[in-house]
Amino acid sequence: MIEPRGKTQPVAADCVPAHGVILDLDGTLADTLEDLAAAVNFAVGSAGFGPFEASQVRPMVGDGLAVLIARAAPSASDEDRAEMTRRFRAYYGNHFLDRTRLYPGWPDALDALTQRRVPLAVLSNKPDDFTRAIVDRLMSRWSLAAVLGQRPDLPLKPDPAGALELCSRLGLRPSEVLLVGDSPNDIETAKRAGMRGVGVTWGFRSEKELRDAGAETLIHAPGELLLRLPKRHRVETAAPQ
Ligand SMILES: [Mg+2]
Repeated sequence: MIEPRGKTQPVAADCVPAHGVILDLDGTLADTLEDLAAAVNFAVGSAGFGPFEASQVRPMVGDGLAVLIARAAPSASDEDRAEMTRRFRAYYGNHFLDRTRLYPGWPDALDALTQRRVPLAVLSNKPDDFTRAIVDRLMSRWSLAAVLGQRPDLPLKPDPAGALELCSRLGLRPSEVLLVGDSPNDIETAKRAGMRGVGVTWGFRSEKELRDAGAETLIHAPGELLLRLPKRHRVETAAPQ
């Protein structure tokens, strides 16, 4: 069957027997910004930093909790940051789903990916316990092959270690995996891991930042991801509006 999708169609991908998808969490699957901003303000406010608007917290997110605290309280001592991290964890543990939701379009896209038996995994720089808790609460109706957040024994993205570990768990070669994310970190991770990076434009970073990071594939709605998979995994209902 010939599909008239022109140059947006990745010809090489059609030769790949199976594609797995690794998804970033914050800014990609879920809009976590408001709850993160509240936790940051709780963590650093008593030391005289902030308060920050959510829009100010947005560029601080994506490189792990330690970096988030360091960006919110740049002149704080290591000891103060340790206390702020403790406060963040205490607050966020009770408020991580106050306003956090999957972005529109994901339920249908995840249904379609599941229907097509595309192996799915989540890879986040968010602490592993919070990553798992959010995925458990927001994505329980879909079967994920693996979920991996920040762990002490694993370097953060853009180091490819986590992505490659997930790839191994999915039973796929890196070249068979799409790594989908909203930040330059995700694009860089994909490059270093030998995967195809897919940038999403609805997240915490701008389309320009993604392009500057070398993103060759950008999607503007979750359903467009289906068009980046081999033909056998595509579904007619997943076409972008
Ligand atoms: Mg992200």
